[in-house]
Amino acid sequence: MARLSRPSLSPVRGARRIAVIGAGIAGLAAARTLAQAGWEVEVFEAQGKAGGRLAGEESRHGSFDTGAQYFTVRDARFQRALDATAAPCKRWSANAVRVLDAMGRVVEAALPTRESHWVAVPHMGALAAHWAAPLGDALHLCTQVVALEADTLEPTRWQLRTQGEADSSAVHAGFDAVLCAVPPGAARRLLEAPAPALHAALADVRIAPCWSLQMAFPQASQPGLPHLGPQWNCARSTHHRVAWVARESSKPGRGSIERWTVQASADWSREHLNDDAARVQAKLLRAFGEITGIRVEPAWAQARLWTEAKTETPLGRSHLWDANAGLGVAGDWCIGHRVEDAFVSGLELALAAAA
Ligand SMILES: Cc1cc2nc3c(=O)[nH]c(=O)nc-3n(C[C@H](O)[C@H](O)[C@H](O)COP(=O)(O)OP(=O)(O)OC[C@H]3O[C@@H](n4cnc5c(N)ncnc54)[C@H](O)[C@@H]3O)c2cc1C
Repeated sequence: MARLSRPSLSPVRGARRIAVIGAGIAGLAAARTLAQAGWEVEVFEAQGKAGGRLAGEESRHGSFDTGAQYFTVRDARFQRALDATAAPCKRWSANAVRVLDAMGRVVEAALPTRESHWVAVPHMGALAAHWAAPLGDALHLCTQVVALEADTLEPTRWQLRTQGEADSSAVHAGFDAVLCAVPPGAARRLLEAPAPALHAALADVRIAPCWSLQMAFPQASQPGLPHLGPQWNCARSTHHRVAWVARESSKPGRGSIERWTVQASADWSREHLNDDAARVQAKLLRAFGEITGIRVEPAWAQARLWTEAKTETPLGRSHLWDANAGLGVAGDWCIGHRVEDAFVSGLELALAAAA
């Protein structure tokens, strides 16, 4: 039977109790903004840590950015939030190549840019962890929201049905508003029954999958030995399998063991959605060798699939907010495909909800 969680004193009508579904950057930006404005906020996150696609992972050879590789800052509000965080973010002076062909030849050199590329240390997930920390117990990890519905006892409010660890189910009730800060596929599933108009508004949004491969080459990290392979540290690629290659060990604060990340192209990832990780790993490894000339076997490698990775067709508005229903939607895919887009979307949804 599902456990019921409801505030012991039911809030007075109009009291500000809000649920945020998803603790990626959009959800964190929304939750922090609302908490600072005096709302009682609870955040529900399916995974065991906050960050979503702003993700990092430790291996025995050092850290990797398994999702976003770096972020750029164009919005003053994002800059202010970064200035206010204790999260260590450093400039990545990437020795970049703009585009490589399938054989790894440079077809477009890097353009001079005044825009800085930032990374969190020791990996991108650290930024999300810092932003999530003040939420404390209000952040429910390993708690997937499986349904959003009218509150059984107070039908003008909302309740969430959740699935937790070891298949434990619960109902969290008594919310005046619910913000869905999840990728569009998950948002559609949650909104279809309770909010058909919001659901319909997401119909044209498209987001591509991405297979990503992380590799470590400790054998190349002997004192006195040069880097393996090319002299550049990251590049976009026109290889039909690969869209992006980066030397993780060139990022600041990451440790010196030679480590690389490869991201497959959207088309190739889509074609190989149902492949197993071992098969994908072998194919991406071969492509990596063709592009970089590095043909030694990595001592450690791991492939993972992001089923909803990069926006192809955005919503075209920073967020959706239905004030009558108390329901809203945010995510990078509302306006773009970058970390900053997620932040701006979450922030603007929270400002609309708090107005
Ligand atoms: C491989 C890859 C490379 C990228 N590279 C870059 C880059 O170099 N630079 C850049 O700026 N951006 C990059 N991005 C994009 C960037 O990561 C995203 O723009 C940003 O992190 C999206 O944040 P978000 O909060 O909108 O969504 P997400 O990060 O996807 O957060 C959504 C959260 O909701 C949770 N969730 C989903 N469904 C449920 C549910 N039912 N119940 C509870 N929780 C749920 C998820 O677990 C997740 O934590 C990259 C993304 C990927 C995948």
